[in-house]
Amino acid sequence: MRKKIIAGNWKMNKTVADALALANGIKGELSGCGCCSCSCPEVVVCPPFTALKTVGDALAGSKVQLGCQNMSSEDDGAYTGEISHTMLRELGVQYVILGHSERREYYKETDFWVNKKVKKALEKNLRPIVCVGEKLADREAGNTEKVVEEQVRGSLAGITAEQFENVVVAYEPVWAIGTGKTATSEQAQEVHAFIRGIIRDMVGEKAAQGLRIQYGGSMKASNAKELLAQPDIDGGLIGGAALEVRSFIDIVKAAV
Ligand code: PEP
Repeated sequence: MRKKIIAGNWKMNKTVADALALANGIKGELSGCGCCSCSCPEVVVCPPFTALKTVGDALAGSKVQLGCQNMSSEDDGAYTGEISHTMLRELGVQYVILGHSERREYYKETDFWVNKKVKKALEKNLRPIVCVGEKLADREAGNTEKVVEEQVRGSLAGITAEQFENVVVAYEPVWAIGTGKTATSEQAQEVHAFIRGIIRDMVGEKAAQGLRIQYGGSMKASNAKELLAQPDIDGGLIGGAALEVRSFIDIVKAAV
């Protein structure tokens, strides 16, 4: 049984004060459940770097975990503007989103770089949430599987079956991100099962069955239940709906 995981990607939103209010609101809503073995999903929030310390301090001891949105593939040194694993771990970060489509698109991050970062994260005990997904033109041209397979194999090359225990994959069709268009549960399930099959081929059945694959792309309370009921959908990576306590918590509840 895979434990579901709901992660909020706050992107470049929220001042420190606003981030603190959102984190406290989420923590407050989830404070009733102190267990970790029930059917509650794992909950992660990924604020911007500037708010990690404040949000991390606020969430300490709660069941909400801290994530971030990117990480350098290097350890330290002359890499202006970059943030290292050591700096992130120091702030209590446990998860790191890597290869988000916005980074692939605007900052030209390739599978090669995503793979370097994934390896570094795992080596340094951070859990990567590795994003893959096709663009609208890929889907319309019938290339969804080709594109997704290339990203999965490229971003996760060289990861061992044991390391996969700490990996989360997020399938995020680019055409569904921030657009209000959601993949139907059938479309999403089809790609999730396909991704699991690639992982099976790469590292075997046990690692494939254990791998959690989130769906991301305009997930909200009204569509979350159906998406999360699919056999290969193990959670959600949430953008817009993660920016308000109510809409995020409603998705978390849909995952119970
Ligand atoms: C995302 O950017 O990861 C995302 C899923 O965004 P949204 O929920 O706003 O589509």
